[in-house]
Amino acid sequence: MHTLDVYLHYQLLALYFQGASTPIPATAANGLAPCPECKQGVVRLGPKSASCNRWKEGCKFSIWLEQHGKKLSESQITQLLEKRRTNVIKGFKKEDGSGSYDARLILTDGFKVRLEFDNEVTPKRA
Ligand SMILES: [Zn+2]
Repeated sequence: MHTLDVYLHYQLLALYFQGASTPIPATAANGLAPCPECKQGVVRLGPKSASCNRWKEGCKFSIWLEQHGKKLSESQITQLLEKRRTNVIKGFKKEDGSGSYDARLILTDGFKVRLEFDNEVTPKRA
């Protein structure tokens, strides 16, 4: 008679453990935004980069905080993660040191950070 009870109990335990391993949703307290790559982790701010907290599970998502000589703000990184495109950011440094320029940053389908200029016609990437 107790077989079903035991079975149900086991199922509940299984659910409990599944629940325990479910990542906590991103909040301001524990991360910037949900990871755009694995969609399960949370992107956390480190000293030099923002990266997914599921790196132990094999997610390699990570972006440098400094892009083209410009340190990104937390809200710019959050924009990049959530909208995959930032507002125009001023003050990127030219590589030859001859000055600076303004551009947006976008997150590509391959989860790389790339510059985008408003006057540039960006070829559609597969
Ligand atoms: Zn991830």
